[in-house]
Amino acid sequence: MGPVGLVEPRSRRQPFAAVQLRQDDAEGRLYNMVGFQTKMTHPEQRRVFRMIPGLDRAEFVRLGSLHRNTYVNAPDLLLPSLQVAARRSLFLAGQIVGVEGYVESAAMGMLAGLNAVRLLRGEPMAVPPRTTALGSLLAYVTERGRKGFQPMNANYGLFPPLPRALRGREKKLALAERGLDDIRRWRDGLAGVASGAASVA
Ligand SMILES: Cc1cc2nc3c(=O)[nH]c(=O)nc-3n(C[C@H](O)[C@H](O)[C@H](O)COP(=O)(O)OP(=O)(O)OC[C@H]3O[C@@H](n4cnc5c(N)ncnc54)[C@H](O)[C@@H]3O)c2cc1C
Repeated sequence: MGPVGLVEPRSRRQPFAAVQLRQDDAEGRLYNMVGFQTKMTHPEQRRVFRMIPGLDRAEFVRLGSLHRNTYVNAPDLLLPSLQVAARRSLFLAGQIVGVEGYVESAAMGMLAGLNAVRLLRGEPMAVPPRTTALGSLLAYVTERGRKGFQPMNANYGLFPPLPRALRGREKKLALAERGLDDIRRWRDGLAGVASGAASVA
Protein backbone atom coordinates (compact mmCIF):
# COMPACT_ATOMS: atom_id res chain seq x y z
CA MET A 1 0.00 0.00 0.00
CA GLY A 2 3.06 2.22 -0.27
CA PRO A 3 2.06 5.45 -2.08
CA VAL A 4 5.48 6.01 -3.73
CA GLY A 5 5.10 7.90 -7.02
CA LEU A 6 1.39 8.70 -6.50
CA VAL A 7 0.10 12.25 -6.04
CA GLU A 8 -3.48 12.95 -4.94
CA PRO A 9 -4.78 15.15 -7.83
CA ARG A 10 -6.85 17.59 -5.73
CA SER A 11 -4.45 18.31 -2.87
CA ARG A 12 -1.33 17.58 -5.03
CA ARG A 13 0.09 15.82 -1.96
CA GLN A 14 1.39 12.27 -1.63
CA PRO A 15 -1.21 10.25 0.31
CA PHE A 16 -0.32 8.31 3.45
CA ALA A 17 -1.18 5.00 1.74
CA ALA A 18 -2.82 3.77 -1.46
CA VAL A 19 -5.37 0.97 -1.78
CA GLN A 20 -5.33 -0.99 -5.03
CA LEU A 21 -8.75 -2.16 -6.23
CA ARG A 22 -8.63 -5.00 -8.77
CA GLN A 23 -11.75 -5.43 -10.88
CA ASP A 24 -13.20 -8.89 -10.19
CA ASP A 25 -16.23 -9.07 -12.54
CA ALA A 26 -17.02 -8.02 -16.12
CA GLU A 27 -19.61 -5.39 -15.03
CA GLY A 28 -17.18 -3.52 -12.73
CA ARG A 29 -19.29 -3.95 -9.59
CA LEU A 30 -16.88 -6.18 -7.66
CA TYR A 31 -13.39 -5.09 -6.69
CA ASN A 32 -10.75 -7.05 -4.81
CA MET A 33 -8.85 -4.97 -2.22
CA VAL A 34 -5.24 -6.02 -2.72
CA GLY A 35 -3.24 -6.84 0.43
CA PHE A 36 -6.11 -7.01 2.93
CA GLN A 37 -5.38 -10.45 4.34
CA THR A 38 -6.14 -9.75 7.99
CA LYS A 39 -7.17 -11.39 11.25
CA MET A 40 -9.50 -8.51 12.21
CA THR A 41 -13.07 -9.52 13.07
CA HIS A 42 -15.65 -9.02 10.30
CA PRO A 43 -17.50 -6.12 12.01
CA GLU A 44 -14.14 -4.37 12.61
CA GLN A 45 -13.13 -4.88 8.97
CA ARG A 46 -16.40 -3.30 7.78
CA ARG A 47 -15.98 -0.37 10.20
CA VAL A 48 -12.31 0.30 9.40
CA PHE A 49 -12.53 -0.23 5.62
CA ARG A 50 -15.46 2.21 5.38
CA MET A 51 -13.14 4.89 6.77
CA ILE A 52 -11.10 4.70 3.53
CA PRO A 53 -12.05 7.69 1.32
CA GLY A 54 -14.46 6.49 -1.38
CA LEU A 55 -15.42 3.28 0.43
CA ASP A 56 -17.79 4.80 3.01
CA ARG A 57 -20.81 3.28 1.23
CA ALA A 58 -19.11 0.13 -0.12
CA GLU A 59 -20.87 -3.19 0.24
CA PHE A 60 -18.48 -5.97 1.28
CA VAL A 61 -19.19 -9.26 -0.50
CA ARG A 62 -16.26 -11.16 1.02
CA LEU A 63 -14.04 -10.07 3.90
CA GLY A 64 -10.31 -10.56 4.41
CA SER A 65 -8.76 -13.64 6.00
CA LEU A 66 -5.28 -15.06 6.37
CA HIS A 67 -4.35 -17.77 3.88
CA ARG A 68 -2.26 -20.81 4.65
CA ASN A 69 0.43 -22.08 2.32
CA THR A 70 1.26 -25.75 2.17
CA TYR A 71 5.00 -26.28 1.64
CA VAL A 72 7.69 -28.80 2.46
CA ASN A 73 10.68 -28.16 4.70
CA ALA A 74 12.87 -27.67 1.64
CA PRO A 75 16.23 -27.12 3.45
CA ASP A 76 15.96 -30.68 4.80
CA LEU A 77 14.26 -32.43 1.90
CA LEU A 78 15.04 -30.86 -1.47
CA LEU A 79 18.08 -30.59 -3.71
CA PRO A 80 18.66 -27.40 -5.77
CA SER A 81 17.61 -29.45 -8.82
CA LEU A 82 14.14 -29.67 -7.17
CA GLN A 83 14.59 -33.42 -6.69
CA VAL A 84 13.50 -34.91 -3.39
CA ALA A 85 16.87 -35.88 -1.87
CA ALA A 86 15.65 -39.26 -0.61
CA ARG A 87 13.98 -40.18 -3.93
CA ARG A 88 15.64 -38.49 -6.87
CA SER A 89 13.10 -39.52 -9.47
CA LEU A 90 10.55 -37.32 -7.66
CA PHE A 91 10.52 -33.56 -8.41
CA LEU A 92 8.53 -30.84 -6.65
CA ALA A 93 7.22 -27.78 -8.51
CA GLY A 94 5.35 -24.59 -7.60
CA GLN A 95 4.83 -23.07 -4.19
CA ILE A 96 4.99 -26.41 -2.34
CA VAL A 97 8.76 -26.00 -2.83
CA GLY A 98 8.62 -23.10 -0.33
CA VAL A 99 8.43 -20.13 -2.70
CA GLU A 100 5.68 -17.54 -2.89
CA GLY A 101 4.11 -15.75 -5.85
CA TYR A 102 2.93 -16.47 -9.38
CA VAL A 103 6.27 -15.95 -11.15
CA GLU A 104 8.28 -17.78 -8.49
CA SER A 105 5.92 -20.79 -8.54
CA ALA A 106 5.88 -20.95 -12.35
CA ALA A 107 9.69 -20.69 -12.42
CA MET A 108 9.97 -23.68 -10.06
CA GLY A 109 7.63 -25.60 -12.38
CA MET A 110 9.79 -24.74 -15.38
CA LEU A 111 12.97 -25.91 -13.65
CA ALA A 112 11.40 -29.11 -12.29
CA GLY A 113 10.13 -29.96 -15.79
CA LEU A 114 13.50 -29.21 -17.36
CA ASN A 115 15.31 -31.42 -14.86
CA ALA A 116 12.80 -34.28 -15.16
CA VAL A 117 13.55 -34.38 -18.90
CA ARG A 118 17.29 -34.19 -18.25
CA LEU A 119 17.09 -37.07 -15.77
CA LEU A 120 15.30 -39.25 -18.32
CA ARG A 121 17.96 -38.37 -20.90
CA GLY A 122 20.79 -39.19 -18.48
CA GLU A 123 22.01 -35.55 -18.48
CA PRO A 124 23.40 -33.68 -15.42
CA MET A 125 20.87 -31.71 -13.37
CA ALA A 126 20.49 -28.03 -14.26
CA VAL A 127 20.91 -25.60 -11.35
CA PRO A 128 20.73 -21.89 -12.28
CA PRO A 129 23.57 -19.58 -11.12
CA ARG A 130 23.27 -18.03 -7.63
CA THR A 131 23.58 -14.57 -9.20
CA THR A 132 20.17 -14.90 -10.92
CA ALA A 133 16.72 -14.33 -9.36
CA LEU A 134 15.87 -18.00 -9.90
CA GLY A 135 19.22 -19.30 -8.62
CA SER A 136 19.34 -17.08 -5.52
CA LEU A 137 15.80 -18.03 -4.51
CA LEU A 138 16.54 -21.71 -5.05
CA ALA A 139 19.77 -21.46 -3.07
CA TYR A 140 17.92 -19.81 -0.19
CA VAL A 141 15.16 -22.40 -0.21
CA THR A 142 17.39 -25.46 -0.40
CA GLU A 143 20.29 -24.29 1.83
CA ARG A 144 20.91 -27.08 4.31
CA GLY A 145 20.44 -26.48 8.04
CA ARG A 146 18.10 -23.46 7.85
CA LYS A 147 15.91 -23.50 10.98
CA GLY A 148 12.31 -22.26 11.09
CA PHE A 149 12.05 -22.22 7.29
CA GLN A 150 9.35 -19.92 5.85
CA PRO A 151 8.38 -19.48 2.16
CA MET A 152 10.22 -16.71 0.29
CA ASN A 153 9.65 -14.41 -2.69
CA ALA A 154 12.37 -13.54 -5.20
CA ASN A 155 14.05 -10.34 -3.95
CA TYR A 156 17.30 -8.40 -4.26
CA GLY A 157 18.32 -9.31 -0.70
CA LEU A 158 18.94 -12.92 -1.76
CA PHE A 159 21.61 -12.09 -4.37
CA PRO A 160 25.29 -12.55 -3.44
CA PRO A 161 26.99 -9.16 -2.86
CA LEU A 162 28.56 -7.32 -5.79
CA PRO A 163 32.37 -7.01 -5.91
CA ARG A 164 32.09 -3.20 -5.35
CA ALA A 165 29.70 -1.34 -3.06
CA LEU A 166 26.86 0.37 -4.97
CA ARG A 167 23.54 1.76 -3.73
CA GLY A 168 19.94 2.19 -4.91
CA ARG A 169 19.15 2.02 -8.60
CA GLU A 170 22.81 1.56 -9.59
CA LYS A 171 23.06 -1.51 -7.37
CA LYS A 172 19.87 -3.04 -8.78
CA LEU A 173 21.01 -2.42 -12.36
CA ALA A 174 24.40 -4.02 -11.67
CA LEU A 175 22.73 -7.05 -10.02
CA ALA A 176 20.34 -7.40 -12.98
CA GLU A 177 23.13 -7.13 -15.57
CA ARG A 178 25.30 -9.67 -13.75
CA GLY A 179 22.30 -12.05 -13.50
CA LEU A 180 21.40 -11.69 -17.18
CA ASP A 181 25.01 -12.33 -18.27
CA ASP A 182 25.21 -15.42 -16.07
CA ILE A 183 21.85 -16.89 -17.07
CA ARG A 184 22.74 -16.50 -20.75
CA ARG A 185 26.00 -18.38 -20.19
CA TRP A 186 24.12 -21.03 -18.20
CA ARG A 187 21.51 -21.41 -20.94
CA ASP A 188 24.17 -21.73 -23.63
CA GLY A 189 25.97 -24.35 -21.54
CA LEU A 190 22.79 -26.39 -21.12
CA ALA A 191 21.96 -26.16 -24.81
CA GLY A 192 25.48 -27.39 -25.57
CA VAL A 193 25.15 -30.47 -23.30
CA ALA A 194 21.67 -31.30 -24.59
CA SER A 195 22.62 -30.58 -28.23
CA GLY A 196 20.03 -27.81 -28.52
CA ALA A 197 17.20 -29.64 -26.78
CA ALA A 198 17.05 -27.64 -23.53
CA SER A 199 16.02 -24.03 -24.07
CA VAL A 200 15.41 -21.87 -21.01
CA ALA A 201 15.07 -18.43 -22.61
C1 LIG B 1 -5.56 -14.56 -1.74
C2 LIG B 1 -4.26 -14.76 -2.46
C3 LIG B 1 -3.73 -13.71 -3.21
C4 LIG B 1 -2.51 -13.87 -3.88
N1 LIG B 1 -2.04 -12.81 -4.60
C5 LIG B 1 -0.89 -12.95 -5.28
C6 LIG B 1 -0.39 -11.88 -6.09
O1 LIG B 1 -1.00 -10.81 -6.20
N2 LIG B 1 0.79 -12.06 -6.75
C7 LIG B 1 1.48 -13.23 -6.68
O2 LIG B 1 2.54 -13.35 -7.31
N3 LIG B 1 1.03 -14.26 -5.93
C8 LIG B 1 -0.13 -14.16 -5.23
N4 LIG B 1 -0.58 -15.20 -4.46
C9 LIG B 1 0.23 -16.42 -4.38
C10 LIG B 1 0.02 -17.27 -5.62
O3 LIG B 1 -1.36 -17.43 -5.82
C11 LIG B 1 0.65 -18.64 -5.43
O4 LIG B 1 2.01 -18.47 -5.00
C12 LIG B 1 0.66 -19.44 -6.75
O5 LIG B 1 -0.66 -19.49 -7.28
C13 LIG B 1 1.13 -20.86 -6.50
O6 LIG B 1 1.09 -21.58 -7.72
P1 LIG B 1 1.11 -23.16 -7.73
O7 LIG B 1 0.89 -23.56 -9.15
O8 LIG B 1 2.34 -23.65 -7.05
O9 LIG B 1 -0.09 -23.61 -6.77
P2 LIG B 1 -1.65 -23.39 -6.96
O10 LIG B 1 -1.95 -22.17 -7.78
O11 LIG B 1 -2.20 -23.47 -5.57
O12 LIG B 1 -2.06 -24.65 -7.82
C14 LIG B 1 -2.14 -25.94 -7.26
C15 LIG B 1 -3.24 -26.67 -8.02
O13 LIG B 1 -3.24 -28.04 -7.61
C16 LIG B 1 -4.56 -28.46 -7.44
N5 LIG B 1 -4.55 -29.62 -6.52
C17 LIG B 1 -4.35 -29.62 -5.18
N6 LIG B 1 -4.41 -30.87 -4.70
C18 LIG B 1 -4.63 -31.68 -5.77
C19 LIG B 1 -4.79 -33.08 -5.91
N7 LIG B 1 -4.72 -33.92 -4.87
N8 LIG B 1 -5.02 -33.56 -7.14
C20 LIG B 1 -5.07 -32.74 -8.22
N9 LIG B 1 -4.95 -31.40 -8.14
C21 LIG B 1 -4.71 -30.89 -6.93
C22 LIG B 1 -5.29 -27.25 -6.88
O14 LIG B 1 -6.67 -27.34 -7.12
C23 LIG B 1 -4.64 -26.12 -7.69
O15 LIG B 1 -5.30 -25.91 -8.92
C24 LIG B 1 -1.80 -15.09 -3.80
C25 LIG B 1 -2.34 -16.16 -3.07
C26 LIG B 1 -3.54 -16.00 -2.40
C27 LIG B 1 -4.12 -17.17 -1.62
